[in-house]
Amino acid sequence: MKQTANIVSRQQWGAAAPKQKESLEGPAKKVVIHHTALQSCKGLSEGKDRLRSIQRLHMKERHFDDIGYNFLIGGDGSVFEGRGWGVMGAHTKGHNRDSLGIAFMGNFNNDTPSKEAILSVKQLLMSGVLEGFIEPQFVLYGHRDLGTTECPGKNLYAALSKLRSSRKHFREGQEGDV
Ligand SMILES: [Zn+2]
Repeated sequence: MKQTANIVSRQQWGAAAPKQKESLEGPAKKVVIHHTALQSCKGLSEGKDRLRSIQRLHMKERHFDDIGYNFLIGGDGSVFEGRGWGVMGAHTKGHNRDSLGIAFMGNFNNDTPSKEAILSVKQLLMSGVLEGFIEPQFVLYGHRDLGTTECPGKNLYAALSKLRSSRKHFREGQEGDV
C-alpha cells in the first residue's frame, strides 16, 4: 500500500490564518471520524471552495479559532489539510486534547463512503503513525461513540471497521514488514 497520502495544503485551498493554534500534548491517542453533514464534494476545485466555506462557518458562526477538523476527505479521495498534524482541533467535546479529527465531506446518513475516500484515510493514518503524529495503538472512534450526535452518519459509521482493520498494517510496519 502506498504510505504517503497526498495532502492539499492550507495554502493550496486558500485557508485564512487561524486566530490561535494550540499543540496536542503528544501523538494522538484517538482518531475520531466525522462527517460534515453538508453536501458531498466531487472535484478538487469544488473541494477547495467547500473548505473555505466550512472554515468561514466554523470561525464566523461557531467562533472557533480555525476550521474544526484536522483533515477533511473528499468523495474522490482528496485529502485536505484542516488544522493539520499535531494541532488541537475543535471537533469532539472533551476529547480534543489527545485526538485527531477527520471529516468525510458529505452526509453519510444518505451517502455511502467511496472506496477512494476510505483508502485515503487509511494512507493518512499510516503516514500519521509512521511520522509519529498518531500512536501506533490508537483507538478509532466514530463521533457518536463519544458524544450525543448522529455524526458520522449511519453508513460511514458502519464502514469504520474497514479503517480499524488497517491497524494490522501499522503493526506489520513496525516490524519492517510492509
Ligand atoms: Zn462529528
